Amino acid sequence: MHEVHAYAGKILRVNLSNGRISTEPTMKYAGKFLGGRGINQWILYNEVGPGIWPFDPANRLIFGTGVLVGTLAPGACRCTIDSKNVLTGGVGSSNMGGHFAPELKYAGYDHVVIHGRSRKPVYLWIDNGKVEIRDASDIWGKTTWETDDLIREELEDHDIQVASIGQAGENLVRAACIITNGERAAGRCGLGAVMGSKNLKAVAVRGDREITVAHPDEFFELVSELRSNMIRVANEKTPDDVRCGTLLILERNNNTGGNTVRNFQDAYWDPEKVKKVCAEEILKNYALRKMGCFGCPLPCSFYLNVAQGEFAGTRGEGFKADSHKDFGPKLDVGYLPAIIKAHVLCSQYGLDVDSTSGVIAWAFECYEKGIFTKEDTDGLELEWGNYHAVLELIRKIAFREGVGDLLAEGSKRASKIVGRGSDRFSINIKGHELYESIWTAKAWALGCIVSTRGCDHLRGSPTCENAGITPEEGERFFGVPTAGDRRAYEGKAKLVVYFENFKGVVDCMNICYYMTQWKNIYFIGPEELAKLYTAATGRETTAAELMKIGERIQNLERAFNAREGLGRKDDMPPARFFEPIKSGPAKGERLEREKFERMLDEYYELRGWDVRTGNPTQAKLRELGID
Ligand code: SF4
Repeated sequence: MHEVHAYAGKILRVNLSNGRISTEPTMKYAGKFLGGRGINQWILYNEVGPGIWPFDPANRLIFGTGVLVGTLAPGACRCTIDSKNVLTGGVGSSNMGGHFAPELKYAGYDHVVIHGRSRKPVYLWIDNGKVEIRDASDIWGKTTWETDDLIREELEDHDIQVASIGQAGENLVRAACIITNGERAAGRCGLGAVMGSKNLKAVAVRGDREITVAHPDEFFELVSELRSNMIRVANEKTPDDVRCGTLLILERNNNTGGNTVRNFQDAYWDPEKVKKVCAEEILKNYALRKMGCFGCPLPCSFYLNVAQGEFAGTRGEGFKADSHKDFGPKLDVGYLPAIIKAHVLCSQYGLDVDSTSGVIAWAFECYEKGIFTKEDTDGLELEWGNYHAVLELIRKIAFREGVGDLLAEGSKRASKIVGRGSDRFSINIKGHELYESIWTAKAWALGCIVSTRGCDHLRGSPTCENAGITPEEGERFFGVPTAGDRRAYEGKAKLVVYFENFKGVVDCMNICYYMTQWKNIYFIGPEELAKLYTAATGRETTAAELMKIGERIQNLERAFNAREGLGRKDDMPPARFFEPIKSGPAKGERLEREKFERMLDEYYELRGWDVRTGNPTQAKLRELGID
């Protein structure tokens, strides 16, 4: 029996510089920071001081499961990985699904903190409480898929779960990510490059230890009720989403100003191209079966197979809205086999699809505007829609070959090197390439722009602005009647604060965000999380207490960024979002600068931060116990 319920109880620390392995109790941190992202960020804040280069051995790479991971809670599968951000210099944080996190917990650890740098390539083998640093010389240079296979063969166990980097991480490409189960990615913030800088090729885990819950009957009843409610609501209200996962997002975005056409030059894509790559085409011609992560009641991804043509034999899973939009409208590619191929290559090389497509789109626009010629691009014609060039650039980036060496630096740094006004085409915030369209939905835009990890919708951006919720529902769930009106600015700062705090809690529990009211207001909210936490751990809590912890994590990350010199000046969208959308049903919509600035002021005020700098005050940090 464990002394503590729901947790494995231990944090593993591995120093790759001297081979030292140690542990400490998770409960040392759990009271204030719960688990997952919360504990990861507290360790990062305390142990990685200002100015430390992301590739310095003093940087930490921290894997965190979560309070509910490995239990029967819906989608309790996520692993949060935190470090210094390779693109922004601030907080780096990414989250992957699959089966790795539950296995790590069954192997005896809630978190793994990697210190230092190995002199030669190694991988970490965690086997039911035994830990070994093993030689990875023969695996270095392999793709993530080959790495999985080779480690399982070497250890003679095909049920081992592996999180690894591909060639991109080894080559310190700033878009490098960490991959598990073939295509589940801790994608953003360049964490694969941090792992590569430590000469750590992979972490392999295997375990069969028990994770107990404090009140099993109550927990089981609660989980059963939540699962059946979610399945019922999803089938009643959004049956197409149940069938298609996230593949409908691209088509829907075409009506709401949500696409990112030709490097965000428009938000509306040619309907003929949409038809060629739409969800029905994928389901009819490429999807073999649905795939899900550990414990998922509503799987969102598919195993895809390209059976014919020049990309015949391309197959893999994990294809979701981001790859669909990144390699479709953003690069004007209306050919599904090429889009699927781009997704698979990124998984194999260990590249984040958002940043990789972002820097490629920057290069294409530089070519369109005459800044690049074929002489700058190793002879490639970077014409929109030229998918052969896209695929070749993905390879060149992973290996830092030719022009790929420039692109491997990310679009912000690359545009500084190139000059000649090319920075206008780098669609980034704080150096992090933007995936999202942020012209129309105001809380969505604000959440992306103030995101602590650069820019992204997985901090404070809600999805409810385009979900048709009523003013009564907006008031009831969030205290914001305009929550379902994407054009309104009123109340949106409050909505972002709510979702930032909520996401902080979700990332500590580490259930999938799709299981929560972020995806559907009738799914799991703070009240349900409090009940799950109480039944699992035996420690009484309330929704308000959990949301306070979410607020603490948000402030901690913001304080980390402030220490690195980031602040209000960096919470600014690229200029093209202040220009109107050129075509389609959302034509003319845009962010209005003055209204946006007022919304930003309101956001800082609600946070209790200094409105001038956009940073937490000492009084606020003291109130939250993190001064
Ligand atoms: S919804 Fe998708 S990402 Fe989330 S747990 Fe299920 S399969 Fe994984």
